[in-house]
Order: sequence, then C-alpha cells, then structure tokens
Amino acid sequence: MKIAIIGAGLSGLSAAWEILQLRPACQVTVFEAGPHVGGKIRTELEGGFLYEHGPNGWLASRQSISSLVERVGLGGEVMQADEAAAHRYLWRQKRLLKLPSKPLQILGWEGLSWKGRMRLAGDFFQRPRTEEDESVHDFASKQWGAEFADAVFDPFCTGVFGADCRKLSMRSCFPPVFAWQRRYGSVTRGAFASRPKSSGPKKKGPGLHSLKRGMGSLIEALAAQIPLPSRILLNQAVTSIRLEGRQVRLESGAESGVFDGLILACPADAVSSLLGDLLPPDLRQRNQAIAYTSMGVAVCGFRSSGAPLLPPSFGFLVPSSEPAQILGCLLDSRVFPGRCAPGHEVLRMMFGGPRSPELLNLGDDELKSILLPELRRTLQLGRDPDFVKIIRWPRAIPSPAPFHFRLVDELDKALTGTPILLAGNAYHGVSMDDCARTGKEAASEICARIPQ
Ligand SMILES: Cc1cc2nc3c(=O)[nH]c(=O)nc-3n(C[C@H](O)[C@H](O)[C@H](O)COP(=O)(O)OP(=O)(O)OC[C@H]3O[C@@H](n4cnc5c(N)ncnc54)[C@H](O)[C@@H]3O)c2cc1C
Repeated sequence: MKIAIIGAGLSGLSAAWEILQLRPACQVTVFEAGPHVGGKIRTELEGGFLYEHGPNGWLASRQSISSLVERVGLGGEVMQADEAAAHRYLWRQKRLLKLPSKPLQILGWEGLSWKGRMRLAGDFFQRPRTEEDESVHDFASKQWGAEFADAVFDPFCTGVFGADCRKLSMRSCFPPVFAWQRRYGSVTRGAFASRPKSSGPKKKGPGLHSLKRGMGSLIEALAAQIPLPSRILLNQAVTSIRLEGRQVRLESGAESGVFDGLILACPADAVSSLLGDLLPPDLRQRNQAIAYTSMGVAVCGFRSSGAPLLPPSFGFLVPSSEPAQILGCLLDSRVFPGRCAPGHEVLRMMFGGPRSPELLNLGDDELKSILLPELRRTLQLGRDPDFVKIIRWPRAIPSPAPFHFRLVDELDKALTGTPILLAGNAYHGVSMDDCARTGKEAASEICARIPQ
C-alpha cells in the first residue's frame, strides 16, 4: 500500500508516523515544499540562546499531543512550566495589569468594573442558545457581558490565534466551551459536569508542557521514525493531483507517482489549488478564502549580567484597544528555564496580525527600531537585548470564521468515495494537540478506506 502525504508539518508527520504504527508494511511518501521538516515548528540554538520559531508548549491536559510525545519516546524530555508561568499580564493604559491566576479571583479583578464583575454571574442564568455558531466576541458578550469579552477574550484570541475575536468562530475555536453553553446554558456548570473524575492527587503547578530541547525535537523524532522505503522529500512542492480510477497521481517537480491514498496536510490555499476540479467551484473558492493571520516573532536574547533580568512571569498580551505595535510578549526562558546556556535569557515579542500586517514588510533594522522601544516601554528591563532575531510568518495561523464547520462538512462530503483526506490546522483546530489528533484520525481513516 502506497500513501502520499502533502506537507511535513506536525499534521503531516504525525499522520505518516501513525500510518506506520497501524500498517508497518505501508510505504509512505511525505512531500514537503520547503527545505525543512516541521512547518511552523522549528527550534534553534544560536549563541547559547534556545528559541522557537513557532509553538513553544501545549496544555498538559491535552491528550493527543501528550500521547504522541510519549509514543515517539520523548516522555523523558517533557518539562513542566515553572511556577512563574502562573503570572500573566495585560498591557493596559500604559501599565502591566495582572490577570487572575485562579477562576474565583476574577470577582475581585481590577481589570473589570463592579458592573462588569456582577455581570459574570449572568452565566448561571443563561439558557442553552440555539444558533449553530457565532463569533467569539458575540458568544462571550452574551454569556459574560461585553466588558469581559473586550477585557479577556480579545487579548486571549490575540495570544492563541493572533486574530480578532470578532471574526473568529466560537464553535471552531473553543469547541468544549461552545458545547457546554449549548447543553447546559451555563459554561461554569458545563465545565464542572465535564471535569475528569480523577481519584489521584491533583497535580501542582501551571499545566503547560514543552520539551527540554524545544518542540523541534518532536519533529526530529517523528522524521527519524519514518524509515525507508517510506520517505520525506524536501523541496518537493506537489503541483498537481489527478484521480486515476481508485488511485491518485501526484506531480511534484522531479517526482511523480501513483498512490493508493493521499492526505493533504498543507494550508487551505494549497488544498484549493491542488484539488482543482475535484471540488465544486464555489466550495473551492470558499476554502481558498479561509482567512489566515500573518505575524512575526522578534526573539530577544540577553546574556547574563548577574541576577535574572526577566520578571518571573509568563509574559503579557496587548488588547486591541491599546495603541501598541506588539501583540504580546512571552518570557520563554522564565516559563521553561534551563534550556539556554547558563545565565542566558530569551523572550519573544509577537507583532503584525490584523492590527498591523504592514510590519511584516519592513526590514530587520526598521523593525528593531519599532519593537525595541516597545520592549523598553513595557518591561523596562534597563537594557537592550544582546541578540535579536526576526522571524516572519506570512499566513501563520488560520482564523476560522463563524460557520466554518459547514465548510469542513462540505469538503468531507465532496471527498467521500475518493482516496483523499484532509488533515492540517485549517480544518479541525490550530493547536499542536489538534494537529496530532487530526493526523492520527486521518491515518486510521485512510487505512480503513484502503483494503489491505
Ligand atoms: C508563531 C506561532 C506560535 C504558535 N504557538 C503555538 C503554541 O504555543 N502551542 C500550540 O499548540 N500551537 C501553536 N501554534 C500553532 C501550531 O504551531 C500550528 O497550528 C501547527 O504547527 C500547524 O501544523 P500543520 O502541520 O497543520 O501546518 P504547517 O506547519 O503549516 O505545515 C504545512 C506544511 O505544508 C507544506 N506545503 C504547503 N504547500 C505544499 C505543497 N504544494 N507541496 C508540499 N508541501 C506543501 C508547507 O511548506 C508546510 O511545511 C503557533 C503557531 C505560530 C505560527
């Protein structure tokens, strides 16, 4: 059985790896347009500074990514975030405002007016609503009040999606919260009802995990466990797909071949152009139009100057109402200490997004002249970084719009009966956990569709 996968990001690599667990005799070929495996995941160690180009961690409660990490043999490299990660801030009205670290603290949080805090209790009186989807901002405003939506969901969506919460789908971006509302009316009641019934002692500390050598080590491990005759072909953008009976023919530069099954784990625009006439024109166009946020990452490294420079915190986010050039700042070496050379510290500023997409077009020096003053203004560290690296991600993260689920259903229907499946972060969630889960599901589904 020969299976092709397009895209060697986490979705594509996890799908390839899972297929080989299910059917070791299968021959899997992963086509990757770029010169590296990993897609958005890449770790570098430069001058003693370990930094991530993309994701840095996952929530410990997320089963798919935790299980994948264990099964590829990296269980011993998992590290839990430092206690410092419990301290998170918003940049509001020219100062850092601490966010509540426990749910009940929100009742005394100075980031909301008295009226805003009282309105939170409205959650208990909500009836299950019937709309099939709505924007994150509409959902949060109805449930907890517009003040809470602006104060918390707006910066939170910036942190996770780099996007405007008024344009994101609640159902696709926060599926459990959406389902609790539709079932119980109250999200709080839903969250309580769905708590795992664990008998063991509750684990202490912030529930965020990463890997000692960075997330790139997951990619290395996956790629190393895709042995010949399976292959990962770099710099091999697939340019066309054609159905030939029950098989699929793929063309990619020098390579062409016929496969029994195909998983597309590439961005939505590539899916639309590759599937071409296999999709009805309207569906192809709507898939092509899935919005993506473009963002940049400014990595700042500081060599030791004695006492630790960065405050003990996860970092801060900037609400869209604030006049600032950055989306937020993550104090990576505070959250996951011990990964850089001794005494070295690293933070990452996120910039761009829908608020200032034009920043991505600027050169490094121009960007530094805009971003470093933002760092001085917010964290007031007293010195500039010794090391700065600018990373640009055009079309970084998909921003699923309300009713995105209908588009996904239609795509699945259009491909029923073909040996082609969709994985990738454009369809079933953007987190690494979502990518590991959809990679695994696509692997089981493709093996089920193709007779042994
Ligand atoms: C800055 C940033 C920070 C993030 N932080 C977190 C985080 O902390 N935690 C978290 O859980 N998630 C985070 N995410 C999200 C997460 O990293 C991504 O959603 C996930 O890595 C996407 O994986 P993927 O395989 O679906 O897509 P991608 O990584 O985009 O991979 C798709 C691959 O397809 C290839 N491709 C495209 N067209 C073709 C073609 N025609 N032929 C062959 N190959 C093709 C591309 O080159 C690419 O390598 C972050 C993302 C970014 C950008």
